[in-house]
Amino acid sequence: MTQASTRRLTRRTAAAKAAPVAETPRHVGTLIIGSGFAGLGAAIRLAKDGREDFIVIERGSEVGGTWRDNTYPGAACDVPSHLYSYSFELNPNWSRSFSPQPEIQSYLRQSAEKYDVIDKHLFNTEVTRAEWDEAATVWRVETTNGLFTATVLVGAIGALCEPSLPEIKGIETFEGETFHSARWNHDADLTGKRVALIGTGASAIQVGPAIVDQVASLDVYQRTAPWVMPRHDRSYSKLESLAYQRVPFLQRAAREAIYWGREAYVLGFAFQPQILQAAQVMAKRNIAKGIPDKALREKVTPDWQIGCKRILISNTWYPMLARDHVELVTDGIEEIRGNTIIAKDGSVREVDAIIVATGFHVTDSPGYDCIIGKDGVSLGQIWRDKGQQAYKGASVAGFPNLLFVVGPNTGLGHSSMVYMIESHINYLSSALNYMDRAGVARFEVREDVQQKFNKDLQANMKRTIWTNGGCASWYLDASGNNTTLWPSFTFVFRHLTRSFDAAAYDIALTNTTSADHGLVAVGA
Ligand SMILES: Cc1cc2nc3c(=O)[nH]c(=O)nc-3n(C[C@H](O)[C@H](O)[C@H](O)COP(=O)(O)OP(=O)(O)OC[C@H]3O[C@@H](n4cnc5c(N)ncnc54)[C@H](O)[C@@H]3O)c2cc1C
Repeated sequence: MTQASTRRLTRRTAAAKAAPVAETPRHVGTLIIGSGFAGLGAAIRLAKDGREDFIVIERGSEVGGTWRDNTYPGAACDVPSHLYSYSFELNPNWSRSFSPQPEIQSYLRQSAEKYDVIDKHLFNTEVTRAEWDEAATVWRVETTNGLFTATVLVGAIGALCEPSLPEIKGIETFEGETFHSARWNHDADLTGKRVALIGTGASAIQVGPAIVDQVASLDVYQRTAPWVMPRHDRSYSKLESLAYQRVPFLQRAAREAIYWGREAYVLGFAFQPQILQAAQVMAKRNIAKGIPDKALREKVTPDWQIGCKRILISNTWYPMLARDHVELVTDGIEEIRGNTIIAKDGSVREVDAIIVATGFHVTDSPGYDCIIGKDGVSLGQIWRDKGQQAYKGASVAGFPNLLFVVGPNTGLGHSSMVYMIESHINYLSSALNYMDRAGVARFEVREDVQQKFNKDLQANMKRTIWTNGGCASWYLDASGNNTTLWPSFTFVFRHLTRSFDAAAYDIALTNTTSADHGLVAVGA
């Protein structure tokens, strides 16, 4: 990303911010909420389809979502970049297999510029309420920057977007610095400080090794030990980048190879968990290699089957835990008092800073509270009462003309979310084309279709390692249902979402008057 293009982006962003706030709602054909990989990808697709009548509302000051917000030291993807990127925008210049956050963020910014969708964004603007208006057959959308109506609403608000903070007695009274890994405080200088790191998930195992040389001491608070596999990371040579630039087919082939290598994991996750035993042996070797002390090795060895929670990758986590100024605390936190953390065993540790790396609200995200369906009830409320569910992860009965780009049960434990995102973008594009072609004013997935889809999905979920692996994870909701992950191969999902299946929906055509919404079901 050049400085000039950054300046251009900033100017355009400012222009978008300065868009006049309409007193009467401004109408758009499609309103996309969020501009991470999903919302941005959707905007690019709509532009490529020749659509102009859409807008992206983003509460942040620029595109990027996850990669704009997670700026902690060591932040990087854990799916190789050649796969963790848009299929239509391969990047021959990734510096290494698992690119660091600034590179991914820069890639997203450049993609937004290249496909000229920055002007379609309204940044620094939050959707505070989106309510379906049955009489007018539109979404009425309230934002911090004005009112809109939209024929179609696209929810691209991200599953790992709302930081989850631990409920620890006294944490709000802590005298030092405290912040979540997804809201890193870059003004806080950790040099020579006594630091506590709460959590041992995907972010924590990147943060810890990245700051360990800088701090005076690091206390790592572990609730459950993760399985950590070796990270096969390397930098790409100039020659490789050149080869990918000159012969794009080579990069496509590399991407395909990564895709199918990752897809093989599904056999273990979703069909034959015993296949994962080999991975568990490798993970145990990783522990033995990194930690000489037997007692510490025992503390970091999980008592559940590998794959049940997300498999993490790191070559530096275990060696870090073995360092003299690092302590692994497994007794849980009782209370924070003054500048001390009191563990459940009564031990007291003084700290200057607390880094909270406890993940996100996933199955209980407050992000859905602002979406109100035809019965006047919020999606957040419905999903809290009944558990999150949608048809193909995209549409929800009672919420007409709403499509998600990666809703419930579209997450992955093994491969690139961008693949799932692009599958849903195909579905969205197909739905909009179908609306134009058939003259559709309103579509709503049929309740029975949604129920059947989720019944089958949850039946498939029963055989997976995520349900049978002996762990509690953020994949599961309060009732123990996995409403997060897709329980099969990703190419199956791609096939299911290849085109809009109108037969699954109640459909009203444009010439149906708003007074008699006798829904006319039309075939696919
Ligand atoms: C640290 C970290 C590392 C990860 N690494 C990988 C990886 O290696 N591979 C992988 O496949 N996945 C990874 N993920 C998952 C990652 O979240 C997805 O891959 C992907 O980036 C999600 O994109 P998204 O657009 O769906 O959501 P997000 O990137 O979360 O974007 C959602 C956007 O919606 C905006 N928004 C939400 N609510 C509103 C509102 N009411 N009004 C306006 N705007 C709103 C948010 O500000 C945000 O910009 C990682 C996640 C994290 C947190």
